[in-house]
Amino acid sequence: MVRFGAFHQLLKLKAEEAGAWAVEAPTRQIKPSQTCHACGQQEKKPLSQRWHSCPCGTSCSRDENAARVLLAWLERSLSGREPADAWREVRPGHPLDESALPSKRETHAVA
Ligand SMILES: [Zn+2]
Repeated sequence: MVRFGAFHQLLKLKAEEAGAWAVEAPTRQIKPSQTCHACGQQEKKPLSQRWHSCPCGTSCSRDENAARVLLAWLERSLSGREPADAWREVRPGHPLDESALPSKRETHAVA
């Protein structure tokens, strides 16, 4: 049996080998399965409840909702930062190939 800490290390290593990264989300704070991805309302659900239905009208599987909550958390965590800064946070100690990052977006006004 692989210990949880060892599993995370292995997961990060495998992600890097695949050219990606692994980020550990603070699920006790985010509560992905109890939070609506659309409106943020929280409602405690038993594990047997596999469907997410919210008064805001959102309806999807519990797993899809949790995945969307986690994705929104990641986007919020990384937004507003330069790609290089985000990289250093999720892959500390790893050199950055800046040419592999998307170029900085600029907003152009349309008249
Ligand atoms: Zn909702």
